Amino acid sequence: MFILDAHLDLSLNAIEYNRDLRKSITHLRGSESDMTDLAGRGRGTVSLPEMRKAGIGLCVATQIAGCMKPAGPVGAWENPDQAWEMTRQQLDWYHAMEEEGELKQIRSWSQIKAHMKAWKEDPKNTPIGYILSLEGADSIRTLNDLSTAYEYGLRAVGPAHYGKGRYALGHDEAGPLPGEGKDLLREMDRLGMILDVTHLCEQSFWEALDLYQGPIWASHHNCRSLVDDPRQLNDDQIKALGERGAVIGMAFDVWMIVPRWQRGSTTQEDRPDANLEAAADHIDHVCQLLGTSIHTGIGTDLDGGFGNEQAPKGMDTIADLGKFRQVLESRGYSSTALEGIFSGNFLRFLETSWG
Ligand SMILES: [Zn+2]
Repeated sequence: MFILDAHLDLSLNAIEYNRDLRKSITHLRGSESDMTDLAGRGRGTVSLPEMRKAGIGLCVATQIAGCMKPAGPVGAWENPDQAWEMTRQQLDWYHAMEEEGELKQIRSWSQIKAHMKAWKEDPKNTPIGYILSLEGADSIRTLNDLSTAYEYGLRAVGPAHYGKGRYALGHDEAGPLPGEGKDLLREMDRLGMILDVTHLCEQSFWEALDLYQGPIWASHHNCRSLVDDPRQLNDDQIKALGERGAVIGMAFDVWMIVPRWQRGSTTQEDRPDANLEAAADHIDHVCQLLGTSIHTGIGTDLDGGFGNEQAPKGMDTIADLGKFRQVLESRGYSSTALEGIFSGNFLRFLETSWG
């Protein structure tokens, strides 16, 4: 099975967690066994070999560096200059992985086609493809940086993360898009970028949908009707995304899968219901609501500042995505629908957007 994972924070893990993602998951966990500085230490679920085991041949990989206070879960840089510099270092890491033959940046539909061909012929020796995305736009010092970033391959931007961003308010805030955010969207439109609506607060989400003319996705986003939290999409938002031809990547951060999961205190022993069946309910909900499976995909976020303690039961590493497929299969999803959910729907989106 070929998988496209629409949300991984690979460079954050490499630099801020100091993880050599070329190593096995056993090695990574062992090397962190007595560390407690960051959430998920010693319990990571993502490494490049583990992604290969899962069949992930293409992913959307982020740069991420916020600078607004109070800081969100991944900290805050002192100012936009510092944040920009951090994203440059993250870019350097992706480039280093390209030199090692581990990753390959994808910027166009023709590159996707060539990559898919190479992967089909020789998955073992083909680098994993990555599309570069920016999660939270605080590091864009001025709009000039956006064209610089487009030049180096940035293809998707989520203007918000947590809290009050410079360009947009995160899901834990409420309010309109500031003027700077509207200018950012216009410039993204001009460059032909993808707007990632994940993490936008609800009012800004609707304003962004009105303003933005280009392609839109929600890279890692679950359903509010199943877990009532503003981080999630409500049914009206899901319907609007469907009408725009968007694809919604299902996230495996377990507090977004089952209600009343307290990060840092609830454990899998407390909640045997927090499993892959519960994860499948989110895919099901979007499919039932829209009457089709073509708007659903996978955006695991499994390396987004947590480890297997905060993944659904049955998901020890990202390689267990195969088990998730079996859960959907047992619910009667056809092989065509599954192929769409695990890669085809995002690929079709990219063909339409870039083709
Ligand atoms: Zn996120």
